[in-house]
Amino acid sequence: MILVLEKTVTQEEKNRILSTLREDGCMVREMSEAGQSIMGVTGKAGHDANFFQQLPGVAKVVPISTSFKLASRQMHHEDTAVHVGDVVIGGERIVVIAGPCAVESRDQALTIAREVRKYGAVLFRGGAFKPRTSPYSFQGLGERGLKILAEVREEVGLGVVTEMTSPTQADMMMKYVDVVQIGARSMQNFELLKCVGRLGKPVLLKRGLSATIEEWLMSAEYILSEGNDDVILCERGIRTFEPYTRNTLDLSAIPVIKNLTHLPVIIDPSHATGIREKVSPMARAAIAAGADGLMIEVHHDPDKALSDGAQSLYPKQFGRLMRNIYVIAPVIGKQLDFGYLDKATAVKHLSKTKGKGVQRAAFLGEMGTFSQKACTQYFGTKVAAVPMSSFRAIFEAIKGGNAEFGVVPLENSLTGSIHENYDLLLEYNLRIVGEITLRIMHHLIGHPGVKVETIERVFSHPQVFQQCRQFLERHDSWELVSMKDTARAVSQIKEKGDVTNAAIASKEAADIHGMEIIEEGIETNPRNYTRFVVIGTEPLENGPRHKSSLIYSTGNQPGALYETLKVFAGNGINLVKLESRPIHGKPWEYMFYVDLEADIESDAFKPVVSLLKEKTDYLRILGSY
Ligand code: PEP
Ligand code: MN
Repeated sequence: MILVLEKTVTQEEKNRILSTLREDGCMVREMSEAGQSIMGVTGKAGHDANFFQQLPGVAKVVPISTSFKLASRQMHHEDTAVHVGDVVIGGERIVVIAGPCAVESRDQALTIAREVRKYGAVLFRGGAFKPRTSPYSFQGLGERGLKILAEVREEVGLGVVTEMTSPTQADMMMKYVDVVQIGARSMQNFELLKCVGRLGKPVLLKRGLSATIEEWLMSAEYILSEGNDDVILCERGIRTFEPYTRNTLDLSAIPVIKNLTHLPVIIDPSHATGIREKVSPMARAAIAAGADGLMIEVHHDPDKALSDGAQSLYPKQFGRLMRNIYVIAPVIGKQLDFGYLDKATAVKHLSKTKGKGVQRAAFLGEMGTFSQKACTQYFGTKVAAVPMSSFRAIFEAIKGGNAEFGVVPLENSLTGSIHENYDLLLEYNLRIVGEITLRIMHHLIGHPGVKVETIERVFSHPQVFQQCRQFLERHDSWELVSMKDTARAVSQIKEKGDVTNAAIASKEAADIHGMEIIEEGIETNPRNYTRFVVIGTEPLENGPRHKSSLIYSTGNQPGALYETLKVFAGNGINLVKLESRPIHGKPWEYMFYVDLEADIESDAFKPVVSLLKEKTDYLRILGSY
């Protein structure tokens, strides 16, 4: 059961509740949900709910209806994020674990690790203790394999995941690895589960070959009940009557799991299908279905692999899969970040060298805006997102040293460029150091239980009204109230308390303020994307960079723009954007805004830049990223 405590509960009352529960034979976890103190209670209580309800300081007793308690979503409403070094599993950034089935040699592991890291994997997998169906098959390198994994971490910079098959390996696991895997065959080895529950390392718990979801979550409960909260669930296919694939991948487990538990879930399409060609389609589907990540077997020479070669992707195939995931993720509100680890290292380095502690990124509006989402999806949670009241305030904050970075929208796929930010980029001497694209889904949000017929007034940003024009035309009696940002629109309707008011904003904004979505996805065109750029005073990461942004003006003579474009064409540089904007104070004169696919600031492009300088009156490189 869960005890929800009074907002005014004193420490003395808390202590009394705790000792009553413990005397009653219960185990208690103190937690906080949305600022509210709660106690998660497991074990057999000697008293019934009424008894606990009457204890001073208890506001409410909520029974947990499922057999698993600590794993239950009822116990912990928010998603659990499992931290492995700089990697966070269970958030808006997709985590991909890749590597061979088994560690075969130092060379093999390092070769594959370098390849998968290059393509965007953030953790390395490889078995050293292999639970094989046949005792005559390769059983793994044992401790020697673990030592190789530790070397991979040192040399390639990837945290390592490996399977533990017996409690006797606990010390070795502590010494060499970052995440301990419990294989499908061990899912109900309860002694092993209790052991990893006490280990103090994150655990990746695979679903058993014929386990129900409930049995799987009960196994997670074993680990959680020993005090280890860092459990990652991994669906790897279940045994059915179908012989065409090695197992049957149960993708429907993803939404079921998301509903039942707060734990992150990743998908292993390699063991699920057992066939190389089937791995990528299933991996793509898993991400579309809402998985937090993937575990993929990759081998540079699968024909010679000592185990599971037939299901291992070639590194290049893995690279292609990653590019597809990169495109799919934003559609469902997530990101695959190719710069994940490098960015984390760069941010840590800045914090150290500048001696300012936590790095800060300024964004427009309140928590729950799309700008804040862009900010946390780009940086993760290690950089503090700092709300600002205007775009100019973001630029000022960086200039004045009150933030190291800013995240500003630059263009929307439906409504075009956000000119104010282009003007500010010209005015301030800051650089573009990165970019991130978000799908923008708008929802009609109101007070809990309110129906669309009740609404008379809608609050949001004017751009949002434009993006939801068709929906709003169907409700033309509604008064539209302009707000500075979407999250503020939600906080306003909450504050006013009037049920005839609604807001248009993101799901996150509704969640933060305890409001409800009345109509989902009301933007006219679902292909609604906003591209944000990250600005700062110096480049965030070392190269290679793929894209650059420039602003320039030319003389007013025939062919002036053509001459500049010839420079790009002649050097094989692909332009992805060309826009002209009026120059302030000079009517009918224009600046050209160009995005191109090249690292224009690198040495290789120095001659191109000199040529461009000759052909332009003014040239400013906003940054390469
Ligand atoms: C593995 O990941 O290498 C493995 C043996 O997987 P499973 O336990 O899912 O069969
Ligand atoms: Mn395998």
